[in-house]
Amino acid sequence: MKENILIIGGGIAGLEAASQLLKLGYNPIIVERSGRLGGHVADWNRLFPDMTPAEEVVSRLVAGASEANIFLNTEISFINRLKDSYNVMLSNGVSIITKIMLFATGFSLFDASKKEEYGYGVYNQVMTNSDLERWFNTGHDCRITEEGPSAMGFVHCVGSRDEKARNSQCSKVCCITAVKQAIEMKQKFPDAMIYCFYMDLRMFGKKFEDFYISAQRDYGIRFIRGRVSEVSENIEGKLVVKAEDTLSGRPVKVTLDLLVLMSGIVCDHQTCRTAGMLSLPLDSDGFLKSRDNIADITASPKEGIFYAGACTGPKTVPETLAEARSAALEIHNHIISLSEELNSNSEGQ
Ligand SMILES: Cc1cc2nc3c(=O)[nH]c(=O)nc-3n(C[C@H](O)[C@H](O)[C@H](O)COP(=O)(O)OP(=O)(O)OC[C@H]3O[C@@H](n4cnc5c(N)ncnc54)[C@H](O)[C@@H]3O)c2cc1C
Ligand code: SF4
Repeated sequence: MKENILIIGGGIAGLEAASQLLKLGYNPIIVERSGRLGGHVADWNRLFPDMTPAEEVVSRLVAGASEANIFLNTEISFINRLKDSYNVMLSNGVSIITKIMLFATGFSLFDASKKEEYGYGVYNQVMTNSDLERWFNTGHDCRITEEGPSAMGFVHCVGSRDEKARNSQCSKVCCITAVKQAIEMKQKFPDAMIYCFYMDLRMFGKKFEDFYISAQRDYGIRFIRGRVSEVSENIEGKLVVKAEDTLSGRPVKVTLDLLVLMSGIVCDHQTCRTAGMLSLPLDSDGFLKSRDNIADITASPKEGIFYAGACTGPKTVPETLAEARSAALEIHNHIISLSEELNSNSEGQ
């Protein structure tokens, strides 16, 4: 009989791992709490750095995992440790016996309304990076009119690199996402004046720097180094954004029709709850803690528990997919070593 492998989370990490495990001859079982597969990527429109349609990536991954057992709208109710396996009870009443569990539970987006000074949920023209992706996908959002904004801004590091927000880490993907979204807005509304307010620009990936240079050179997007200190509304209902330009040392005040907050990547609270059922340790940033951060990034400190994707920290799509493949191989090696152990024990008897 094929070995069961329980995958918690049907985002791109869970799907890619399931696809690889199917090829290796196992029986992956995906448990996804929402009603659809693809996780956050299913909400995005086009992906940096090549503007690949997110839908294409998700459809390919869903097709690769189609032979797996998939439970949608399902959560883990509780986990019982047996002698050499786990009995996992799902919220739909199904019970699964497995020796291996893969956490592919991803991340949550920082709740931008917690940063009151930016006015999310207070002023109508303030939205998040995720809201803007949804608008790219659907074309529906009352904050963006048909003629588009004449001036708009992006605020970097919202809920990241911010001790007050209890997240001192960099979310890694939001600088390049801001550049991508600013270019997309300029393509749609060429006359719009676009500003990016940043602390540092972290263009770490392949082609990211080219993207940033193109945003300035080809699209005239203005990058202002400085933290936004205040957002308010004037009597015409426009947003007034104040910041300090730390390069020129001068205060900056701009009037905008739209402000996009680059909400950061934070750990998912439900992941913490599920990890708690197995007493799995969390790292200082709240994400799941790997056995180590160099050689064993997909292994948990507990035998038979593995991790892939953004449940251990911010990742890009290619990084997430690479980790999912790596986790599948680690699981395969672990199962081989379990059966070798079993064989040598039975020969010794
Ligand atoms: C605004 C924004 C734009 C981005 N754009 C890009 C881009 O253009 N290019 C790029 O390379 N990267 C991009 N990223 C990064 C990309 O979103 C991540 O790399 C990717 O989502 C990580 O996938 P994942 O499967 O690890 O996690 P997720 O996408 O978070 O998926 C996790 C899945 O697990 C499910 N889940 C969670 N907990 C449980 C549970 N307890 N039980 C059952 N199911 C559970 C969730 O419902 C979800 O379906 C962007 C990120 C942000 C914030
Ligand atoms: S990627 Fe950029 S915007 Fe995001 S937290 Fe890091 S520095 Fe800030």
